[in-house]
Amino acid sequence: MNYSAFHKLSYGLYIIATEYEGEKVGYIANTAFQITAEPSKIAISCNKDNYSAQKILDSKRFSISILKKEVDTSLIGKFGFMSGSDMNKFQGVETITAKTGAPIVIDSSVAWFDCEVLNSMDVGSHYLIIAEVVDGGVLSNEEPLTYAYYHAKYKMRSPKNAPTYIDPDKLADEPESEIAIEEQLAAEPAKETGDGIYSCTICGFQYDPEEGDPSMGIPPGTAFEDLPEDYRCPICNADKDFFKKVS
Ligand code: FE
Repeated sequence: MNYSAFHKLSYGLYIIATEYEGEKVGYIANTAFQITAEPSKIAISCNKDNYSAQKILDSKRFSISILKKEVDTSLIGKFGFMSGSDMNKFQGVETITAKTGAPIVIDSSVAWFDCEVLNSMDVGSHYLIIAEVVDGGVLSNEEPLTYAYYHAKYKMRSPKNAPTYIDPDKLADEPESEIAIEEQLAAEPAKETGDGIYSCTICGFQYDPEEGDPSMGIPPGTAFEDLPEDYRCPICNADKDFFKKVS
């Protein structure tokens, strides 16, 4: 089987969240899809190891916040690569409370749904959770984030808990996506730095010295070795020790 075929499926990226016994929990998902129009029903897929999974089943409610294209990447790091068992992911994140009581993340979101769980199915590593949409709203007319754009822009991998995670050994060499190529063409001419690209071993973010890291105030042309000692991955907050040279 050619596992790269899975990368041709199109998705968005969402924060799925709930509140159970006073605790707010949530995670990043690409698997949320509408099943029916009237009444509106939606399904999500949630890894059983995910700290949020049981809490969604117990609370019988969840929200879906649809992330915008130019998302604050710290949200992806927090909700996609860290566990709610170790930290409160909602600290410093702006939310509103849905009718069901689930928290809706409004930072970097274009729209949201409030959902009541109707049913769930054990599908092995994940639960498939089916819900009725009881409320929804639009926050912005900006473009929503797509999974393809996220992969192309940040050159990142899926977390191991994601239903779309594929063991890198199973993937044949894939051609660069059209989005990546377009962005490369639009980019400024490369500066000579003579330094390599480093990849975060936690989330897969790649530090390219030609681009620097404007989100962290690092100008283009800064070699990885010249980054300040307290530099941290803009996605998952890992420190420099977690980076490995890839080219
Ligand atoms: Fe990282």
